[in-house]
Amino acid sequence: MKGNKEKNPVLPISTVFTSKGIQEKFARLGIINQFGLILHLPLRYEDETHLCPISEVSEGRIVQVEGVIIHSEVMYRPRRQLVCQVEDSSGTLFMRFLNFYSSQIKAYSLGTRVRLLGEARAGFFGTEMVHPKCKIVCEGTPLPDALTPVYPTTAGLSQVMIRKFIRKALIGEDGDGRNLSETLPSNILKRYQLSSFRDSVMYLHQPPSNASAHLLQGRTHPAWCRIKFDEFLAQQLSMRLHYQRRRSYNAPALPCKNGMTRALIKSLTFSLTSAQRKSFSEISQNLSETYPMQRLLQGDVGSGKTVVAALAVLQAIENGYQAAIMAPTEILAEQHYQKLSSWFAPLFHSLGITVAWLSGSQKRKQRQAALSDIAEGKAMLAIGTHALFQEQVKFDKLGLAIIDEQHRFGVHQRLALRMKSVKEGLVPHQLMMSATPIPRTLSMSYFADLDVSVIDKLPPGRVQVVTKLFSDTRRDEVIVRIREACRQGKQAYWVCPLIEESEVLQLKTTLETYEILSLTFPELKVGLLHGRLPSQEKLSVMELFKQGNIQLLVATSVVEVGVDVPNASLMVIEHAERMGLSQLHQLRGRIGRSAEASVCILLYQKPLSEVARERLRVIYENSDGFEIARQDLLLRGPGEYFGIRQSGLPMLRFADPERDETLLNYARDAAEEVLRDNPEFAKYHLQRWLGEKSDYLKA
Ligand code: ADP
Ligand code: MG
Repeated sequence: MKGNKEKNPVLPISTVFTSKGIQEKFARLGIINQFGLILHLPLRYEDETHLCPISEVSEGRIVQVEGVIIHSEVMYRPRRQLVCQVEDSSGTLFMRFLNFYSSQIKAYSLGTRVRLLGEARAGFFGTEMVHPKCKIVCEGTPLPDALTPVYPTTAGLSQVMIRKFIRKALIGEDGDGRNLSETLPSNILKRYQLSSFRDSVMYLHQPPSNASAHLLQGRTHPAWCRIKFDEFLAQQLSMRLHYQRRRSYNAPALPCKNGMTRALIKSLTFSLTSAQRKSFSEISQNLSETYPMQRLLQGDVGSGKTVVAALAVLQAIENGYQAAIMAPTEILAEQHYQKLSSWFAPLFHSLGITVAWLSGSQKRKQRQAALSDIAEGKAMLAIGTHALFQEQVKFDKLGLAIIDEQHRFGVHQRLALRMKSVKEGLVPHQLMMSATPIPRTLSMSYFADLDVSVIDKLPPGRVQVVTKLFSDTRRDEVIVRIREACRQGKQAYWVCPLIEESEVLQLKTTLETYEILSLTFPELKVGLLHGRLPSQEKLSVMELFKQGNIQLLVATSVVEVGVDVPNASLMVIEHAERMGLSQLHQLRGRIGRSAEASVCILLYQKPLSEVARERLRVIYENSDGFEIARQDLLLRGPGEYFGIRQSGLPMLRFADPERDETLLNYARDAAEEVLRDNPEFAKYHLQRWLGEKSDYLKA
């Protein structure tokens, strides 16, 4: 790599393109520097390295032939078209153009020698090619010896032009080939048997005629592997640097004092599972450090994340620092408030400290009181919704911010909570919780800068929820089941369909369902819960349901997150085919919270689309949230998952964390090693791959 260190590895585009217009067109393809050209890899290839005698052309194959035009005519029936007959020494075939310029009529005149590439098929006159690629040639024009790449393009940029500029970039400035220089140390290349960057790129842009189309097209050829490895490596390097930078910030050290935390554990009616203990000890360790924790606590619905969060809160408070818990919905925030207030009351009482509640809908006076308690440090814990990160909320000494169901919040909101509370240069620790697990491959790639704790086991005594799929025509059977369950003293949810197009319509459907079910079950107390109810009413409905004074709760998906009523053991979900997988899994997680056998009935409306059928199969066959998330990822792709596209994280263009997991593992190990042993290579690699975006590292 000698000599490269001083030079910028990414050359500007201006030295390749002379015209501004062309520059703009390439910019439309996202190509803004020479490395962008190098990485503009072909979509597919055409084989123009062979000629096929016309007599041997078989239908359905894409072939290249060469011959002389012996007849050319514009025909008008059934519609205007240009038809030419082409002959070589073995036979003739026709080429047909339905759209053509008059210049083509002139060009394809009698006696012209042409090379055609296209799919042969049986036509009205005999074998024909419709709209073949047609080049006028002289006899003996040599054939290319490499497959012809076909590039993604945009209006006004021909393949010929793209090829020309890519060729320029491959050669480099004054033919120095700098664009292809190696960014990896040789021990890494050797260990993972990677081919050199130059060879790989050259191969993909100009594969030899004997290249395996299969390996190229399937992107499994070693040349492709090298590109994917490089892409993963850039991602891993940037995540690691991000991680290191976080360590350079200061946070208050909040070591475990075994005071309040131990007291809480003692007072619980259950003992912590080993997974909960392990998660808490990881968090506890992070809190004691002088740099901010950024940890994700992952655990399937019902795995018991709340108590782990409560312990973290107490550890902060023991050290004289405040904590905040933010939840995505009012119902969930309220539930945390009630649960934690009751757990903490005995501990806080003698100290004269309190828990504050903040929500968008609370009365002015209550809000003012909460705000001043938080500002004065009387409230050592604040629980609430988005209201928590508004301007007016000022903490006295915030040491820990907890975000429940973190995937419901945007990245920016999460950062806002963290940064708003920076005081005296101290950044609070941050704990995120999620029941929608990030599949391992994703957490290794996109979330590599987070520490992750996993509660991988449910508390003992839980029984698995049995999932049943019912077509909507079997509603009567469902009614019978509900009646039976409630007669036995159990409780049930009836979840109304999601109507994305119209909230009004959704509300209407929910109200209708409520009325119908109230009439159907005169003997039951039926409750109604939806997002448009005043929050006071929402909370009181939840309270009645919790106490068993409502037996059947008709609800929209507001019950999706976090609601905890262990006695409810039956759930009906209408139009399950419209719901996302993680949403269904979350909904289903509202039941099966006691030792009682629980059943979730998914009602669906026929006919089912292919994807809907597939989704229902996944949810029916799996109860493990991680597996469901993995399959969801396969069905939806990582971009949609977890809003990665909006997250500002560098996207992957070539590599796929799921399919290319082995390479991802290599890249992860290599990133650590390169950063440690060859930081100059790491820098070079990042500049090349992330370019401007390596600024993301500095943000
Ligand atoms: P989630 O991880 O979905 O947020 P919660 O924290 O709401 O789950 O816990 C679900 C239920 O399990 C709650 O009723 C909680 O009190 C209970 N729970 C938590 N930990 C344990 C445990 N170790 N043993 C028994 N029950 C537990
Ligand atoms: Mg929860």
